[in-house]
Amino acid sequence: MVNWFNYKIVLSCFTFLMFILLSLKKENTQKEFKWGFFGHQKINRMAVFTLPPEMIGFYKEHIEYITEHAVDPDKRRYAVKGEAECHYIDIDHYAKDGEDVFDIVPKTWTKAIEKFTEDTLRAYGIVPWHIQLMKLKLQKAFEAKNIDLILKYSADIGHYIADSHVPLHTTENYNGQLTNQKGIHGLWESRLVELNSDDYDYFVGKSQYISHLLDYTWEEVKKSNNALDSVFRFEKEVTNELPSDRKYAYEQRGNTTIQTYSKEFSNLYHSKLNGMVERRLRTAIISVGSIWFTAWVDGGQPDLNSLRHLPPSPELLIEIENLNAEYQKGQKKGRVCDDH
Ligand SMILES: [Zn+2]
Repeated sequence: MVNWFNYKIVLSCFTFLMFILLSLKKENTQKEFKWGFFGHQKINRMAVFTLPPEMIGFYKEHIEYITEHAVDPDKRRYAVKGEAECHYIDIDHYAKDGEDVFDIVPKTWTKAIEKFTEDTLRAYGIVPWHIQLMKLKLQKAFEAKNIDLILKYSADIGHYIADSHVPLHTTENYNGQLTNQKGIHGLWESRLVELNSDDYDYFVGKSQYISHLLDYTWEEVKKSNNALDSVFRFEKEVTNELPSDRKYAYEQRGNTTIQTYSKEFSNLYHSKLNGMVERRLRTAIISVGSIWFTAWVDGGQPDLNSLRHLPPSPELLIEIENLNAEYQKGQKKGRVCDDH
């Protein structure tokens, strides 16, 4: 009995120490992250505040984890083959002249495979279906009251949901490479957010139970896709309006100077988009909160207060450390969001 008690104390101390050490180490690597991560972290963080009283205490306690690990799926692109396709769907690949592509691609995975084969689906991205799988995983984690998995899958699914709200995650022309607008991906989801996020309104209301998640997911993908026309057109317009030497500027990031879209260009583009970036960001926040809530309800509404004041396990922290190591090596395994 005494031994067991001592063992538990030693284990708790070890876990706590690992947590501190890895947090410090992560703090260092965080500085090297790109700004593209900012939006994901903001979405996961703000989604916590949409949750009902039964959930918010647990999520607030782990808000730093949920925020920081909003970007794990992007890091996993450097570590895991088959990860990249989970972040997007090049839906226009399936379009033929005059047809509505959302009538062409079946909503369910099984029917979509029957029609196009799994290889084709994976080649052009699977984000709407991946969200369904992740929601099930999160639901199972709630059923099992497994803290590690609740945290991991909550952070992960937040990322995929957020990606599905970005127009450029729904097209083959994801970085403007087919229309001489290369760099537009980072411009829309990183640069514009970086410059304007302080002015956005993050109070989005309460999360809602989603009874038909597949339909809901497709609806958001469709809204993202419908916005593409403006995304490309306004970038072209601003490019034509400004002399070319005013499109880009040099900025200091830490010790390096980088070329980026000028503030003048970015601001003009942002105002032409007329609130689109903020609207998609806000919708992403409520979607993330609502899907967490739905997974919790479908997982039997476990009492999350009984899971409070426990840190993640050493195993989870080691897994995170390995992921960071792969990311630092920088070998991409598939498409990365801000490929330029
Ligand atoms: Zn992503």
